Amino acid sequence: MTEVFTGSFTQQEAIPEEGIEAALAVLRHGRLHRYNLAEGEFGETALLEQDFAALTGARYCLAVASGGYALGAALRAVGVGPGDPVLTNAFTLAPVPGAIAALGAQPVLVETTEALTIDLDDLAARAAARPEARVLMLSHMRGHIADMDRLSALCREAGLTLIEDCAHTMGAHWRGTPSGRHGAIGCYSTQTYKHANSGEGGLLVTDDTELAARMILLSGSYMLYERHLAAPPPEAFASLRRDMPNISGRMDNLRAAILRPQLSRLADRKAAWAERYRALEAGLWGAPGITLPLRPEAEDFVGSSFQFLALDWPPARIQALVARAKTRGVELKWFGAPEPLAFTSRYDHWAFAPSAPLPRTDRVLAGLLDMRLPLTFSVDDCALIARILCEEIASLHAAAA
Ligand SMILES: *Cc1c(COP(=O)(O)O)cnc(C)c1O
Repeated sequence: MTEVFTGSFTQQEAIPEEGIEAALAVLRHGRLHRYNLAEGEFGETALLEQDFAALTGARYCLAVASGGYALGAALRAVGVGPGDPVLTNAFTLAPVPGAIAALGAQPVLVETTEALTIDLDDLAARAAARPEARVLMLSHMRGHIADMDRLSALCREAGLTLIEDCAHTMGAHWRGTPSGRHGAIGCYSTQTYKHANSGEGGLLVTDDTELAARMILLSGSYMLYERHLAAPPPEAFASLRRDMPNISGRMDNLRAAILRPQLSRLADRKAAWAERYRALEAGLWGAPGITLPLRPEAEDFVGSSFQFLALDWPPARIQALVARAKTRGVELKWFGAPEPLAFTSRYDHWAFAPSAPLPRTDRVLAGLLDMRLPLTFSVDDCALIARILCEEIASLHAAAA
């Protein structure tokens, strides 16, 4: 009998009841704007910032309107301006080079390894070739974390300020340090498909007092920064408050209310994702002609998605695999598709971030297959998905031999 999977790859879990209650309370009192506070009230947004600062061990935290907004605010805060080259991953999502291009700055794309991380040899070479580049915007794309020990040393040597895009690593660690805490600023997204869901939203963390003050002013604090709970003291704003433009992108109390109980469940959700990821990995181990990305010992990742490589397969065979999996209910995203589809974007589709061809990245993306793993899937669902993929991979492999 041919097994078919019937789950939905885009169905996230419901918001915890506690979050629904907190959201209803905000709706009932009507003070949705973060600075609209009753006497003695802190507000859900300021409390969320305090919670997330504690979770990441950061001195300061700012909640904003989206992950993409967080990236732009971080770049502005470190002083990136028009014409500046900014190093970043070639393998990432469009909002990352987009945040750089939106400032009139120039994304300088770096090659990708078969572990789906930034290629550190290529990073060193490009940093040396472009000594005027001052910033690395590092994207932990699909939750794969590069060797942060070597990367941090490389940034120090090259004088690069590190900004981390942690859209896929909220809750992850490298050698015990939370992802987002290796550089000057960590940026997170709370958009529906990430690790906490408020529809839209973003978070920024830093230990740097001046960067925190700049980002708070940029986000549109209307000089009400004393109403924050994870912000620098008022003196830190004195010399900046007239200089930073207001580029409104605040979070509101409704979304913050939904997020707070999700953050307190992040460790449990991560454990649930790990079980699902490992079930898929175990099921696909040894399937012919494919490779699974190695996950280093130091990497404590959140398995909210799964990737494997069909390296050097002819495109027609990959297309056949995607089509056959789809008829059995398994939605694979292929990064080698000639046209940009949904969330799968490839660097040569970004006309706003022109780059010379990157042969190592091209080879990886041409063979890269990707799946979401929503927590609405059971561990058995993941084992079933692995069986379906194994059968189709084996049959295509045998036909090609
Ligand atoms: C989703 C995402 C972002 C941006 O987040 P939004 O909240 O959608 O703006 C940035 N980087 C990566 C890798 C993402 O997947």
